[in-house]
Amino acid sequence: MHVNQKLTRRLPIIARYNYYHPLRSRPRQMTTTSATLEAPSYRFIDIAVNLTDPVFRGTYHGKKKHDDDMDSMLERARKAGLKSMIITGTSLQESRDALSLARELGFFCTVGCHPTRSAEFDQFKGGADAYLLALDKLVASNLNGKGRAVAIGECGLDYDRLRFATQEVQQRHFRSQLSLAKKYHLPLFLHSRAAHADFVRILREEGFGEDGGKAMGGKGGVVHSFTGSTEEVAELMDMGFYISVNGCSLKTEENLQTAKAIRSDRILLETDAPWCSMTGGHASKHHLALLSPTLKELYFPPSTKPENFTLGKPVKGRNEPSAVGGVAWVIHQLHDIALETLTETAFKNTTDLFALEIDEVL
Ligand SMILES: [Zn+2]
Repeated sequence: MHVNQKLTRRLPIIARYNYYHPLRSRPRQMTTTSATLEAPSYRFIDIAVNLTDPVFRGTYHGKKKHDDDMDSMLERARKAGLKSMIITGTSLQESRDALSLARELGFFCTVGCHPTRSAEFDQFKGGADAYLLALDKLVASNLNGKGRAVAIGECGLDYDRLRFATQEVQQRHFRSQLSLAKKYHLPLFLHSRAAHADFVRILREEGFGEDGGKAMGGKGGVVHSFTGSTEEVAELMDMGFYISVNGCSLKTEENLQTAKAIRSDRILLETDAPWCSMTGGHASKHHLALLSPTLKELYFPPSTKPENFTLGKPVKGRNEPSAVGGVAWVIHQLHDIALETLTETAFKNTTDLFALEIDEVL
């Protein structure tokens, strides 16, 4: 009797849990939850996700900490309004991995070599020319269909991390990758850290000084994870580039001033997941505090530490694409425009820059 009573009391709870389980629920089944009923459908394309990172398979610094939860992470992203993503390629091998994952998931990716990985060019069998040729071939054979390469990069300069590659090495291989953008008429996916003067000098010298390099066959591009000054942002927009922001771009009061200075017709949104989480110590905190409970639940669902991993819940400290909504929220606050206006503008900027067809991102 006692046991039976317990069972009858527990049954509805189990049934409800199953019903709401993120891996099993589908939008039309969700119509009875207040969260879904109230949640306006803001839509996003996260333009910078490092989905090839092993943390999405449960491995941190070579150590397996929990089960692969890529699917449940993607389900949370879907619920948060993500329509597509651009997976970042950060080296020859990682660009190959990004491409195969993008093909598998129906997303998009970039092909290129990050400045901190640029020593790989000279270490490559056959030398730097052979490495560039391998990137070139990878682009050439992946220009069509879902999962295709939509940008050259991640490339650029990172003077905060010279221990991986000197300024000279970074500059040489940044310059050589610009040739691929001109050759294939693809936008650039750019990274610039503490190197603005050299960064814009090289871009200008290679024909990207105005209109994003249109006259030279270029298609502009985006400087992602932007953390520079208002003057720098103005110069890059003048040259015809888009600026993309994430949690790292909203850390300090100065960052917020810069984010405010990005014109909405030039802004793109990203998370740089699993990096660049927005945390309590950041200047963005005051703006995030104004998120409605409904949106907070969608963009920042309650997380658990890796050691207490529960399938269906995010892992603390590991940023995920669903948080792109939080980035959008802070920007709409700073720009003092409606959230929908901001998200739709960023969405259109993204499809314009990367030449994504609307039926590919719905
Ligand atoms: Zn970067």
